[in-house]
Amino acid sequence: MAAPAAKPHLVFFPFPSQGHVTPAFQLARLLHHCHGFDVTFVHTEHNRRRLLRARGPGALAGAPGFRFAAVPDGLPPSDEDAARDVAALLLSLPTMVPHFKELVLSLSELPAASCRRCLLVSDVDPILRAAQEIGLPCVTFWITSANSYMAMDQVRHLVAKGLVPLKDAEQLRDGYLDSTVIDGAPGLPKGMRLRDFPSFIRTTDPDDAVLALTLRLTECLRTVPSAVVFHTFEELESQVISAMSDILPPIYAIGPLPLLLREAGAGDHAASTSAGSSLSKEDRACLDWLDGMRPNSVVFASFGSLVKLSGEQLAELAWGLAGSGYEFLWVIRSDQQATGGAAVLPPEFLAETEARGRVTSWCPQEAVLRHQSVGAFLTHCGWNSMLESICVGVPMLCWPFAADQQTNSRMACTEWRVAVELSEDPGREEVEAAIRQVMGGGRGEELRRSATEWKDKAALAARPGGSSWVNLERVVNEVLAPLM
Ligand code: UDP
Repeated sequence: MAAPAAKPHLVFFPFPSQGHVTPAFQLARLLHHCHGFDVTFVHTEHNRRRLLRARGPGALAGAPGFRFAAVPDGLPPSDEDAARDVAALLLSLPTMVPHFKELVLSLSELPAASCRRCLLVSDVDPILRAAQEIGLPCVTFWITSANSYMAMDQVRHLVAKGLVPLKDAEQLRDGYLDSTVIDGAPGLPKGMRLRDFPSFIRTTDPDDAVLALTLRLTECLRTVPSAVVFHTFEELESQVISAMSDILPPIYAIGPLPLLLREAGAGDHAASTSAGSSLSKEDRACLDWLDGMRPNSVVFASFGSLVKLSGEQLAELAWGLAGSGYEFLWVIRSDQQATGGAAVLPPEFLAETEARGRVTSWCPQEAVLRHQSVGAFLTHCGWNSMLESICVGVPMLCWPFAADQQTNSRMACTEWRVAVELSEDPGREEVEAAIRQVMGGGRGEELRRSATEWKDKAALAARPGGSSWVNLERVVNEVLAPLM
């Protein structure tokens, strides 16, 4: 009898920031745990050091059939914050290409069962193109929403129509982005404003490097990978997912991954939750603090792993939280705490809110959102944060800053109706009023009802037989099996 075909060895190479590493790690765990794939999960040297600092050697211990590798990235070892500077990260990517190629070659030295065929799973343009060059099959795991991807793909059309780059600095002000409506983009809702498109369009420079990278990246996704997996679920983004089939290689919606992992029985394993890939040390004591609060009484404010608020924005948010009268848990990352500790905050604010507020530098966010005391989430609209909130039915206040966040905010506020939108640079009165709106009253109830409906749909999608569960099996059978 012929021996069963060996499964391809999966090489995961995510863009090296927290919001990409976490879901890539979750998908890798799922394919390893449920479908028996061997995995090499690639970190950058910088992130490897951060993982070791945050969680000790156990963070990279791996398991049978699941190993970690690291490639040099050229970022200064002494600079903790380098990996939070998106421009520095983008520039570091091409330097990793030769190291990635060496790594792929070295996989042929693994025990035979582990290395029969390799397949790359990546969202990094230069790495995908390098794979194509050396004949390595590849799939993209795209970790932002399908709607925001479509909005990003539309940038080429906005450029062709002469709308982008913007004509002058005036267009960046005076409501031009708010009042210019772009209808007719496939699958995107009617009434999308220029403001709702990825922030990369907010330039007047025809040679803008990030705009050029955006165009290059969408071209790469259309032509290089043999499939694109989106971290979403069909029910949430059905319209745009069907429109996307004309633009991209075969696409599969698989998410929310934290729920799929739990359904697969891999959710309680430390390495399977976001904790397994957290690049910063988590303050788990904030969960004890939440235990002491009443259900739905706490506003959770967190801006992901990269966004930095200005001193003025921090102060306005602080006084907005204070003025709302609600309890709050607020993540201010250490790289944001320029002068150390919570010293960036006005001392009078700290004194006034001592009994009902807690500031931390990094928390186990998924567990925080799941906690019954959390009543609303003030978020920068990073896609992981939004999905984590949708999974547990927590309504949001959207304060998007950059990249895909504007599109996510638009969808959550006007299409899914689980959030209220703050203006571009909200003052304390606006923050305070929005918190009151979401935490109490008729609008709050409406949002909570929609959020609960989406939570139930997400749970169904992740269950055996649900759309995401089935799509995961389809990826295995339609994309990976042909390589076996
Ligand atoms: N996160 C966390 N603890 C924190 C703040 C954020 O674990 O204190 C996690 C959060 O749960 C999410 C990720 O960091 O999984 C941030 O990704 P997201 O896409 O929301 O934003 P990005 O960092 O990419 O802007």
